[in-house]
Amino acid sequence: TKKSIKGFLKRNLFVLLTIAAVALGVMLGFALRPHNLTLREIKYFAFPGELLMRMLQMLVLPLIVSSLVTGISSLDSKASGKMGMRAVAYYMVTTLIAVFIGIVIVIVIKPGKGHRDSPVASSGTIEPVHAADAFLDLIRNMFPPNLVEACFKQVREFTSTLTDSLNATEAALAVNMSRVLQTIQETVVEMIPVSGSSNGVNALGLVVFSMCFGLVIGSMKQQGQALRDFFDCLNEAIMRLVAIVIWYAPVGILFLIAAKIVEMKNLAEVGGQLGMYTVSVIVGLLIHGLFVLPLLYFLVTRKNPYTFMAGLLQALITALGTSSSSATLPITFRCLEENNRVDKRVTRFILPVGATINMDGTALYEAVAAIFIAQVNDMELNFGQILTISITATAASIGAAGIPQAGLVTMVIVLTSVGLPTEDITLIIAVDWFLDRLRTTTNVLGDSIGAGIVEHLSRQELQSQDVEVGNSVIEE
Ligand code: ASP
Repeated sequence: TKKSIKGFLKRNLFVLLTIAAVALGVMLGFALRPHNLTLREIKYFAFPGELLMRMLQMLVLPLIVSSLVTGISSLDSKASGKMGMRAVAYYMVTTLIAVFIGIVIVIVIKPGKGHRDSPVASSGTIEPVHAADAFLDLIRNMFPPNLVEACFKQVREFTSTLTDSLNATEAALAVNMSRVLQTIQETVVEMIPVSGSSNGVNALGLVVFSMCFGLVIGSMKQQGQALRDFFDCLNEAIMRLVAIVIWYAPVGILFLIAAKIVEMKNLAEVGGQLGMYTVSVIVGLLIHGLFVLPLLYFLVTRKNPYTFMAGLLQALITALGTSSSSATLPITFRCLEENNRVDKRVTRFILPVGATINMDGTALYEAVAAIFIAQVNDMELNFGQILTISITATAASIGAAGIPQAGLVTMVIVLTSVGLPTEDITLIIAVDWFLDRLRTTTNVLGDSIGAGIVEHLSRQELQSQDVEVGNSVIEE
């Protein structure tokens, strides 16, 4: 009836608008392609999308800090410890499953077999990075010497990837391979400092600091109340800003997608090995996102995973549009809390951590890409090397920041660990912007399902806390 249709529209207004935005964006993009816009014109055209990225990114840092501090300080240390262990166990298990799926698929499909169909760039050497350095750096990044700088660094990395992505696609045409190499090299040196000269601080440092801070405030009982209230209020205020940005999100997503389609190189040219590689990553991501994660959710909670996923639609589409799980974080929060009614104590604790370290899609892609490059080079990998790839792919996904194409940079860790040529990263650059969007969507899905699972497993602790504090700290 009319009334129920109206009710449906009202309840799902934003989701419908977002889906419409994707469709319109795709149409607009293809309609504009034949006009051969100049780079400058494309930049102007992309502006509304760039604004959305900036708005979301602007909210992320205060959101990470305030949600972690309130989330953790409102739980007693035993409860948060248990919850944290469950989250980490979930992250490990799902990431390893993702890597496993990737490895099986790339070995079965063999996208890199046969003769290399694209010439390799010859110039440029990348300083070898040892797996040990990468691990050390991961730990180093947990303790940012300067918190404020850590914030700026995160924002800078973000904006620099925005402008760099143009270079990457440009160069995908092989117009100027050496420039891409240089870009990669510079970024790598910045993110994985072998010499220790620069330090690649990312959100990880802020997460660790906020968690410790939250634990301490939590242990201060009454004395800590003022700070708890402060961060709680900050969190609430940021979430209200998110509610406003949500109105703008469909517009931003429309232009992000349209501009990307206008700008992209002719995909029909992507055939052969690269095409099969793309298919392998997509198949892997689909299996993981549509079957494995939902199955896991069902096994643990006995609830319908697809209903849960429907509530996440907006976050998933935002991930597709922005290529960044960190920029998507505000929307992920809203979807889980508003649509799926996940306990705020869980989302506040689990989501910022997940968006920073849990990246199933990235891990899967790293494994596929590394083995693909081995196949292209006619290199037979033995069991030990495949094991090394799975470990370093996991580390590379933890180390990748939740920003566009961060995974492409941390690929170096995986390649060098088994002695594969790092300059072969150029082979996969042409399709990376596209795969990045898909793996980011998988990353966000993994974080969200993780929150649902941890909430279910932690219901006892949550209930006993409710009784203890009368649930006064965080009320609806
Ligand atoms: N863009 C991805 C994310 O934000 C990271 C990656 O490049 O794999 O989750």
